[in-house]
This record gives sequence, structure tokens and C-alpha cells, in this order.
Amino acid sequence: MSFTITCPICGKRNLYEFRFGGEDRGPRPEETDLTPETWAQWAMMNDNVSGIQKEWWYHRDGCGAWFTVLRDTCTNREMENGTRPHDAENPASNGQGRPYPPFVDRL
Ligand SMILES: [Zn+2]
Repeated sequence: MSFTITCPICGKRNLYEFRFGGEDRGPRPEETDLTPETWAQWAMMNDNVSGIQKEWWYHRDGCGAWFTVLRDTCTNREMENGTRPHDAENPASNGQGRPYPPFVDRL
């Protein structure tokens, strides 16, 4: 069985159409009173979960949407769809319909 990811717009596709965006760290810290330590903790530290993890994926060879997926890191099985990229309730959304990517895609 191949490793598949379910895009909320395009449906289930092969992993090779996507780019991994790292684990979901929650919303960016507020810039007021932001210390270098708080920023470094949010930007650089990963939980490195052995089990179910909420993570960001980018449909690079498809619709170009960022979305979250719950994945078991031990089996690479997707547990369920995460938040939709246009979800206004998404705390990681920047209000423009796209979440803040954890890195800049260079393609
Ligand atoms: Zn897509």
C-alpha cells in the first residue's frame, strides 16, 4: 500500500504530489513582548511524536493548498483530514484563506 495524503480540495493522492511542512505548532506567538527564547521555542523545537501527530502538508503538484493532516508517524497512515485551508476557524490561518507556512517553498 502506498503512502497517500488526502487533500481537502483534490482528494486522496500519492505522497509524491505533496511537500511536508512539519508538525502543527499552533498559532504564531504574538509579536508584542516576544522574546528570542519564545520565538526560538515556537519556530525550532519539535515534539518528534512517535504516534499520531497533526502536521502541515502542501499540495505542491496540485491545487497549491496548505492543510493539516493527522498522521501516525509509526505507520505513515493518515488518521483523518485536518483543517481546511479556507477554514476561518483555523487558528493558524492568517485571515487570507491560507495558513502561515512553517517554511518557504522554493519550487
Ligand atoms: Zn489539492
